[in-house]
Amino acid sequence: MIDPFGRAVTYLRVSVTDRCDFRCVYCMSEDMTFLPKADILSLEELDRICSAFVGHGVRKLRLTGGEPLVRRNIMWLFERLGRHLDSGALDELTLTTNGSQLPKYARALAAAGVKRVNISLDTLDADKFRAITRWGKFDRVMEGIAAAKDAGLGVKINTVALKGVNDDELSDMVRWCGAGGYDLTFIEVMPMGDIGDADRYDQYLPLSAVRARLEENWTLVESDHDSGGPARYVSVAETGRRIGFITPMTHNFCESCNRVRLTCTGTLYMCLGQEDAADLRAPIRASADNGLLDAAIAEAIGRKPKGHDFIIDRPHSAPAVSRHMSVTGG
Ligand code: SAM
Ligand code: SF4
Repeated sequence: MIDPFGRAVTYLRVSVTDRCDFRCVYCMSEDMTFLPKADILSLEELDRICSAFVGHGVRKLRLTGGEPLVRRNIMWLFERLGRHLDSGALDELTLTTNGSQLPKYARALAAAGVKRVNISLDTLDADKFRAITRWGKFDRVMEGIAAAKDAGLGVKINTVALKGVNDDELSDMVRWCGAGGYDLTFIEVMPMGDIGDADRYDQYLPLSAVRARLEENWTLVESDHDSGGPARYVSVAETGRRIGFITPMTHNFCESCNRVRLTCTGTLYMCLGQEDAADLRAPIRASADNGLLDAAIAEAIGRKPKGHDFIIDRPHSAPAVSRHMSVTGG
């Protein structure tokens, strides 16, 4: 699948549910309205669409959400998709999770062929953790991270840089990840979805500032590592681990975009930061063979846009796109 700008689309992210057991302040408002259950694709339908994408050249699948591991019977989907790893059609099956369910599922994920997992953790301070996630249990997430490591999964920690919240402990995160053997990726907060009373301008911290501050304590060496996603990497000479920077705001990475995103209702977004989308639910429900689905996918890839135009400043603190990250899948 080659888009109009010559980019090969080889990476599909799937939000398997928009629901979550946390309510992170930059992601959701406390009183979220979730999608009606009747609109949600079944696990069999998700498998069918993911498998069609694999047939069209997708080499990497990431299940995300919402919290992917709170979807009922989700291990069935991981196990089912594992067949594409066995056949060699897929290079990687992975997930992004808040870690709360990993004590339960880490071993089963490894058995299904998952090799690495991204776990979101914005702070090492239990009180701050409660303030950021509203509903999260810090100790449980720590157990989840340990369970992933014990199961032999590679762990990458995702940390959203939040001004006045965790900017004083980012260096501690580097040390903690170094000691645990985890890579670490920092993310700039993006203007997606209404978050109630919180203001994204107040949260937004450019990663250029984070990097400058880290360089006071650590030797950061440029790295050409490519994880197949949007992060740019450095390695930390003192710990030997990598740090990634995902900078949608300060550096637009769209020119190398290889991704599209599927929601749990079968809507395909060709860009995280644009409203244009294609419906894949109607074509799969209209016919048992994949002719209509294949045509809808080809048509959608043919209008993948050049990039997003996120801005966060005082006059632009409203969301750039109305849907939440949990709908499109981060
Ligand atoms: N619930 C899982 C988790 O938290 O890892 C997976 C879904 S979550 C939407 C995926 C990632 O998106 C998380 O690392 C989260 O911190 C990040 N995220 C959510 N809202 C964001 C926003 N507005 N800007 C930047 N990152 C965001
Ligand atoms: Fe849930 Fe992940 Fe959003 Fe936090 S960032 S509310 S854990 S979906």
